[in-house]
Formats: sequence, structure tokens, C-alpha cells
Amino acid sequence: MADLRIEPGRCRILISNDDGINSPGIRVLEKIARALSDDVWTVAPELEQSGASHSLTTRRPLRLHEIAPHRYAVDGTPTDCIVLAVKRLLRDRPPDLVLSGINGGSNVGEDLTYSGTVAAAMEATLLGIPAAALSQDFRDGAPIPWETGEAFGPDIIRRLLRRPWPDSTLININFPAVPPGKTTGYAVTSQGRREIADNLMEGVDPRGRPYYWIGPVREVGGAHPGTDVAALLDNKVSITPIFLDLTNVPVLADLREAFG
Ligand code: MN
Repeated sequence: MADLRIEPGRCRILISNDDGINSPGIRVLEKIARALSDDVWTVAPELEQSGASHSLTTRRPLRLHEIAPHRYAVDGTPTDCIVLAVKRLLRDRPPDLVLSGINGGSNVGEDLTYSGTVAAAMEATLLGIPAAALSQDFRDGAPIPWETGEAFGPDIIRRLLRRPWPDSTLININFPAVPPGKTTGYAVTSQGRREIADNLMEGVDPRGRPYYWIGPVREVGGAHPGTDVAALLDNKVSITPIFLDLTNVPVLADLREAFG
């Protein structure tokens, strides 16, 4: 466990996301970061990259556009943004902390394998920088309650910075789909798993050719207690440590026997 305890006031914070530089959630995260530090930088995708996961752009050049002081857009993925920010823009003084989000919609269970929001935090973690992904759950048809993330974000980040940041670990934070006053507290959770219904839409395009469109996750069935999925159903803020060593350790012995 690396002792990376950081004084919030002296912290250089880098912000990114996957909803794009013009999304409302990144403005909320910038407010949260500014409550913790005066040294806040934003490097985010020009266009929405939700579902981009940890993809890296390698077959074409990337451009970094300065939009405003300390705010940059990249014509690439969330991972590209972190790479350009850490290895070029801020290379003389790399960020102490990377925050990604706030995503419009939760990132729980298997979402973590698709999420560009989580991937930005993943990339920072791989570069040795403490990182957290923040996502705001909402109910279909209702406005996204950004005020919930705004209310709890600074306290959560301060609490995280008070302890040594665990190695190879990003913190995945999900705010429940209710206003701050209806939020029932914090829950430290494990990554859940949902039973997912068919979310493929089918149609016919104007030229008569069939198409398929992948829709949002539709859950069927309940959630296991102690998971991120269950915490959001209980209107709690879910805080999950995500470890980037993907090895299934208990299986090692059995496989070694099989290949011994
Ligand atoms: Mn997104």
C-alpha cells in the first residue's frame, strides 16, 4: 500500500470523463474539485465516448484543443485524455489525483467493463496516480439529480485522501437516483452483477436494410446484498475499491495442477 496521503489544498487535480467536455456532469465535478483545490485541470473528450471502455487511439493522430484556461478537449477517448494530460500537458508536475465523471448514469456491476468513465480512472491508476470514477444514477424519464453528487462528492474525496491510497486500485463512486436529503448514507460495496434482459433494438433503415441498436441495460431480478447494485437500490452512495490485477487468485492452484 503506497502512502500517497495528499493535503487536499495542495493537490493538483486532473478531471476527465466519457460524456464529453460539454456535459453537465463534468461541470459538477469541476465544482467538487475546486472545493478541494485551486489547481484543477480538465482534459476531456470533445465528443461523447460512453461505452468506449479502455480504448486507446493508435491509428490516427490526436489533437489537444485549449478551450479555456486549464480546460482542454481531445478528439479521442477518455484513456487518450489521461495519457495526453499526464505525459505531455502536465508532465512537469503530474496530477496528484484524477477524478473522472460525473457520468450521467450509474456505473455498477458489469457496466465497469464498458465504461469510459471508469477507464479514465483505470488509466490514471496504471500511471501510478490515485483515481476515482464518479457516476450519478437517475430514474428513467426523471432529471438527473446532479445535486446529490455535488453534495457528497467533496466529503468522500476528503475522506479517501486521509488514508493511504491502495496500490493498483481505483475507487468507483456511484450516487443514488434521489436528492441529497433522501440519500441514506454511504455503503462500501463490492462490484455486483445484474441479470440483464435483451437490450437489442431492431429496425429497418430508409434504404430497407435491417439494423440493430444496442440499448441501455435492462435489469431483471434483484441485487445481492453488499454490492454496488444493492446500495443504489437502497438510495445509498456506493463506494467500491476496484483492483486492476484481474487474476482470479483462488483459481491459480487448480490451474497449476491442471498444467503441472
Ligand atoms: Mn458516459
